[in-house]
This record gives sequence, structure tokens and C-alpha cells, in this order.
Amino acid sequence: MKFEFIEYNNRKVSDDELLNDMKRVVTEYKLDSLTQSKYTLYGKYDCSTIIRRFGTWNNGLIKAGISVTQQFWTEEELFLNIENVWIKKGSQPRRRDMDDKNLSTISSGAYLRKYGKWTDALIAFVNYINEDGTDKINEANNINTIEINNHKTKRDINLRLRFKVLQRDKFKCCACGASPAKDSSVELQVDHIIPYSKGGETIEENLQTLCSKCNSGKSNVL
Ligand SMILES: [Zn+2]
Repeated sequence: MKFEFIEYNNRKVSDDELLNDMKRVVTEYKLDSLTQSKYTLYGKYDCSTIIRRFGTWNNGLIKAGISVTQQFWTEEELFLNIENVWIKKGSQPRRRDMDDKNLSTISSGAYLRKYGKWTDALIAFVNYINEDGTDKINEANNINTIEINNHKTKRDINLRLRFKVLQRDKFKCCACGASPAKDSSVELQVDHIIPYSKGGETIEENLQTLCSKCNSGKSNVL
């Protein structure tokens, strides 16, 4: 029997709340970057919540737009940053966009070190996105989970699937048309059309792009 740990206190904390609190600590304490030990001192939430939500601590930093002092990056971190820049621009990033601190957390040099040419980094990213993005529940290990929630896919929307949906929706909110390319304060989120809690699956057809304003008004209402 597999039980899921429920965080009573942090249950309703949204991605935005976590990222905004990380940004707040950096601004308030005038930090260049944010280590887990610094965040433990000044932050409102638990570091483990941030890591669970974004996969790694660095992924959280990248999502929050906080610079990361690091020489070597995992492919996932490099791709996550390309995705962020692509969303902010609303189109395929150029090499110089990667050196624009308002757009990118990781500079073009890191990509050139790994891929040689910027175009090769983009090709690697596009190939990665084009692999099957559906995150299926592993039936052998999760028989009890399936019995409980009757889902074929996991709730979490992975980078591949999220990017496919954003690209399909042209990096705009499906409800109001807002886009970060036109207004940098707009934050796009990919969300289930039929909520996961109501049996909706994490597949391209059941996902849509919404801005954070339109999404917060929606919650689990169909
Ligand atoms: Zn909207």
C-alpha cells in the first residue's frame, strides 16, 4: 500500500507564492544568489517543498529568475532556461537573448560549452521536446495508486508537455490573450481543462495555457 504524504501547512501554496518568496529573500537581503541555507534562515517555506515542486533547487532558482552561481549545468536546467526565455519572448530565442539578464538565468557561454553552437543547443532542446511527453503511471509499481484515483497519467505536467501546450497556444493565455512577450508582468501557466481531481488526464488535449490571473479564478470549477 502506498500512501501519499499530505503537507497540511503548505498544501495550498502555489508555485507563484514559492517563487515570489524566493525573490523576496534575494531582494530584501541584497543577495547575488540564493543558497538553501540562506533560504532556511529567511524564507517562509521549507526548502524541501521548493525542491519537490520544481525538481531541484536550481530549477526553482531558474524559474524564479534568480542567478545561479554554477559552472556546470544539467541538461534539464539548460532546457528549462531555454523554455523560460522562449515563453518570455514568445518566439525562438537568439543567442544574444541568453545574455540578456532580464530574459535568461544561464548565459550563452554555458550552452556553447556543452553544445558548441547555439543552433545545436536549440536543436537538442527541440528534439527533447518532441519525444513523447506523456508521463504515464508505472502500473507495476503503482497498482494501489491507480485503484485509488483511476488515472493513467501523473498529475505533474513535465517540461516537454508544458512546452508543447504553450507552443500550441502561441504563448498566450487562452482566456484573455495576455502574453509575456507584450507585457512582462504576465505569467503563463499550463493547466488541466478537466481538473485532475475530477478525473482529467495529463495529456495535451486536456491542457491549456492560462495567465496566472485567469487561472486563479478557475481552480477546480469546470
Ligand atoms: Zn488570462
